[in-house]
Amino acid sequence: MLYFDHNATTPMLPEAREVWLEATEKFIGNPSSPHRLGQRADAALQAAREELAGHLGCDAMDIVWTSGATESANAVFHHLVQTLPSDSPIWLSSIEHPCVMAAATGRFPGRVVLMPVTHVGVVEVGWLRERFKIEKPGAVALMAANNETGVLQPCSEVRDLCGEAGVIFLCDAVQWVGKLPARGLGACDFVSGSAHKFGGPRGVGFLKCPSGTRMKPMLLGGGQEDGRRAGTENVAGVLSMLAALAVREKAIASSGTSERESWRREFELRLVAELPGCEIIGGMSPRLWNTVSALMPEADCQRRWVVKLDRFGFAVSTGSACSSGKEEPSHVLAAMGLAPGQAGRVLRFSSGWETPREDWAALLAGLKQINSLVANAAVGPASS
Ligand code: PLP
Repeated sequence: MLYFDHNATTPMLPEAREVWLEATEKFIGNPSSPHRLGQRADAALQAAREELAGHLGCDAMDIVWTSGATESANAVFHHLVQTLPSDSPIWLSSIEHPCVMAAATGRFPGRVVLMPVTHVGVVEVGWLRERFKIEKPGAVALMAANNETGVLQPCSEVRDLCGEAGVIFLCDAVQWVGKLPARGLGACDFVSGSAHKFGGPRGVGFLKCPSGTRMKPMLLGGGQEDGRRAGTENVAGVLSMLAALAVREKAIASSGTSERESWRREFELRLVAELPGCEIIGGMSPRLWNTVSALMPEADCQRRWVVKLDRFGFAVSTGSACSSGKEEPSHVLAAMGLAPGQAGRVLRFSSGWETPREDWAALLAGLKQINSLVANAAVGPASS
């Protein structure tokens, strides 16, 4: 099976698995325990905090370990609803991941404003700039890279605008971290990341919080994480996440992304040329090197494409992992102006660091084969 669903989750890197196994045996103590075994585990956790802070460019004490980005987003809005004035609105880009959308709307009902995006999937910074002249929200959330289209967002520009306006800025960096340099993300007030998107284990992630802010913890219990998140820390998971990130950051630094981006571009050019009716969603925008969001020919709907591709040995997706089991049109594609009928024909292909160029060629061949089978089946009964 060729795996083209890395934006949903990634296989664990051997380096990360090794560190996980080693840490499970070595750090048997609870990091909160006062004995030496506990303190050893705590020291490993603190070293990992320093290491992540080094990648992000922030203070180690600003980092809280979580179970992943869904928890991180919920923790942010849980904190904000208790600390912002009771009438503060929250502005989100209209293409945020469901975990940000739901965490914000659940805690700020009737107070969430969606920022528009262009038809190529980029948030409209001009809208924000103009609106800031009239009012200020309690917080703004903008993801670094969209999980469905791969379109990169102008996060540093929006972060700076928020900074000047004194507005809190949250960046969901889940699809960015491990694919592009993490450096600089630490300048955002809040940043969330998740290990299983870059070769680490599932169920572990982080939240970078603003320096000097007393977080209102969502999980209540013990005083772990400096009172910001109760519950015994997942030491092996955290160390394994950092091992995966180190591998990815090294590959990014040695410019491993440009070659992979050219393979993605080659696939897109051939797809559009060889399958009439195909279009690349957000094709005119800067995008992640691994993500293709493709409007498929009218011959079939996305779910049937996914099933057929699965039979042919390709794992692909209709959109985000969370929404791919549902038939509702994607809110991301709707925000970009696609009609429900078009959105129902969009497939997402997301490669990984280990995906070779030949796999893209094989995927293209599979798509062409399925397309001609579908086209022939459509023509068959009518012509008989
Ligand atoms: N944010 C984005 C952009 C994502 O793609 C995902 C997962 O698909 C999440 C958040 C949720 O991450 P987690 O699985 O760690 O809860």
